[in-house]
Amino acid sequence: MAKVIDHLKQAEKTLFSFEILPPTTGESIQTLFNNITPLMEFKPKFIDVTYHREEKLMKKTPSGLYEQRSVRKRPGTISICAALMHKFHVDTVPHILCGGFTKEETEYALIDLNFLGIDNILALRGDAMKSDTSFIPTSGGHKYAADLVTQIHNMNKGTYLDDELMNPTPTKFCIGVAGYPEKHFESPNIKTDLLHMKQKVAAGADYIVTQMFFDNKKFFDFVERCRAEGINVPIIPGLKPITRKSQLYDIPSRFFIDFPVDFTDAVLKCKNDEEVKQVGIEWSINQCRELIKNKVPCLHFYSMGKATSITKIASALY
Ligand code: FAD
Repeated sequence: MAKVIDHLKQAEKTLFSFEILPPTTGESIQTLFNNITPLMEFKPKFIDVTYHREEKLMKKTPSGLYEQRSVRKRPGTISICAALMHKFHVDTVPHILCGGFTKEETEYALIDLNFLGIDNILALRGDAMKSDTSFIPTSGGHKYAADLVTQIHNMNKGTYLDDELMNPTPTKFCIGVAGYPEKHFESPNIKTDLLHMKQKVAAGADYIVTQMFFDNKKFFDFVERCRAEGINVPIIPGLKPITRKSQLYDIPSRFFIDFPVDFTDAVLKCKNDEEVKQVGIEWSINQCRELIKNKVPCLHFYSMGKATSITKIASALY
C-alpha cells in the first residue's frame, strides 16, 4: 500500500479522495460498505476515517440515581481502515487525536497501524469535549497537533518512548495535518494560526488537508499565505456539498466558516431540501472545476458516509 504523499507526487491530474465516519456503535460495517461503494468507481487514492473520542454522558442506574459514564459513540477507526484496505484495496488514513490519548496509548495505536500496514495518519489535536468549554489535554498526552506530529516523526526515525529499546524498527508514516483557510477559531488571527501551521510542518507533516470552504478565494489566499510563510507541502482542499437548508446555520457554528452571499441566497430560495441538494451539487462542481484549473493536487470530500451528491459531483468531473 502507498503513502498519500507518494500518490500526490505521482499524480498527473487532480486526485479524488473522501472522508468517512465510523458507524455508530451497533451499526453494521456492511451499511458503510454499501454507502461508499458508488464512490469507489471514481478510484479514490485514499479514504480518511475520522476519530471520535469519548463523551461524558449521564446514565440512570437501576437505583434511580444518575452516574457519569464515558462513552465512545463511533469507535473502530483503525479497524475500519484495515477493513476498507482489505475489501477495496484502497489506502486509508486514520485520524489520530491528541485528546483522549496518553503518549503511551498513542504509541500503542501507532504500533497497531504499523503492524496492519497502514502507513498514513492525519494527526489532529481534537476539539474540546462537549462537557468542557475549551480543549483540555489528556494527562500524559499532547497539547497541540504539532507535538503529536513530533511523536510520529520520532518513531519514523526509530525513536520510541522507551529510549532503552534495542534497535527499534523505524516506522514509515506519512503524516497529514489540518489547515484552516478561514482560520482556526481559537487563533487570534490568521498570521498566528499560520505560524502554528508552520510548526506542524517543521515537526514532520508531509501535507495539509483543509477545513471545508465554499469560497475558493479563501482557499487560494490560504495557499498563497502558506507559501509566503515558507510552508511548501501539498495543500489538499476539503469540500462538502450541502444537502439541507438547516446546514446554512449548523455548518458556520460548528466549523467556523462563512457561506458566500450568492450561495446563501440560492439556498434560501429553495422550496425543499431536494432543491438544496441540487444547489449544493452545482456549487460544488463549479468550485471543483476552478480548483482543478488551478492544479490542486486532490479534491477531498467530506462524505459523512453519504455518497449521492458526491457521486454526482465526481461524475461531472472525472
Ligand atoms: P492544532 O494544530 O493543535 O491547533 C489548535 C489550535 O491551537 C489552533 O488555534 C492553533 O493556532 C493553536 N496552536 C497550535 N500550536 C500552538 C502553540 N504552540 N501555542 C499556542 N497556540 C497554538 N476532530 C476530531 O475529533 N476527529 C477527527 O477525525 C477530525 N478530523 C478533522 C479533519 C480535518 C481535515 C480538519 C480540518 C479537522 C478535523 N477535526 C477532527 C477537528 C480538529 O480536531 C479541530 O479543528 C481542533 O480544534 C484543532 O485540531 P488541529 O489538529 O488543527 O489542532
